[in-house]
Amino acid sequence: MSPTPEKAARADAARAHAGGRAAAGDPGSARAVAALTVENLEVIYDQVILVLRGLSLEVPAGEIVALLGSNGAGKSTTLKAIAGLLPTEHGEITDGSVRLDGQDITRMDAAARVRRGLALVMEGRRVFVHLTVHENLVAGGYTRGARAGYERVYEFLPVLAGLRSRVAGYLSGGEQQMLAIGRALMSDPRLLLLDEPSLGLAPRLVDEVFGVIQRLNTELGLTALLVEQNARRALAVAHRGYVMEAGRIVLEGAAADLADNPDVKEFYLGLGDAGARRRYRDVKHYKRRKRWL
Ligand code: ATP
Repeated sequence: MSPTPEKAARADAARAHAGGRAAAGDPGSARAVAALTVENLEVIYDQVILVLRGLSLEVPAGEIVALLGSNGAGKSTTLKAIAGLLPTEHGEITDGSVRLDGQDITRMDAAARVRRGLALVMEGRRVFVHLTVHENLVAGGYTRGARAGYERVYEFLPVLAGLRSRVAGYLSGGEQQMLAIGRALMSDPRLLLLDEPSLGLAPRLVDEVFGVIQRLNTELGLTALLVEQNARRALAVAHRGYVMEAGRIVLEGAAADLADNPDVKEFYLGLGDAGARRRYRDVKHYKRRKRWL
């Protein structure tokens, strides 16, 4: 099936946005940019807990797509399903499909997905705390065999170069997040899945992390699916966004349109009518009252 003119134009724009580097179909590029399609995904934990209920989303090549939603909506489960990590948590895809560049990867194991260019930066900066920064990076490159891509990572994240001999467990939260991103980059991904990378970081570090996410896209040409509680910042760096509730997508659109949407403002940006910032408690009550479903 040929793409709609709108989709083709979006993909072209994304490639241009990615600086033309590694553009799909570009004969000079070593690796084509990745596109992800998730269709009608259903996920069940422990054979009884239905968490994703027919979730569909698309991440066009070269774009950053934000996935927003309240606690427990199923955002992390979505990323784990895409990365192939559900079996370790007794989770299972029971319906639907995940495709990377059109190829069905729904039943592929996690390591094979990494080899195809998919990497996940998990929530909570899961670095190897007893290893040094450099050893963490080497471990991240394991699936790529002997390829020592760490010089490229140090170049992209110079802060890590200065910390290469430090034990990861003693790094600050922000430094650990950079290391988690650097470790994911070691597998030379084309599609990066990021689970709440700004969680628990001080505002200055949040700025740094979002700056890095933007550079991943503009300088390295990576496609990214970004799960974030910080909706304002996520929509500022993303091209498009989705809002999910109770295992389904309930809203989607261009990032700028979503940031302007009254419901998104109220739910996720803490802004009421006339742009007045509301207290979190008010928003929380509102959240309970109002559902899209
Ligand atoms: P948060 O923003 O709080 O991280 P989330 O949107 O990422 O939430 P998930 O972590 O995907 O949501 O969880 C979705 C639902 O699935 C929740 O009700 C959660 O309790 C349940 N769940 C998640 N992991 C498991 C698991 N391993 N076994 C059973 N239930 C799980």
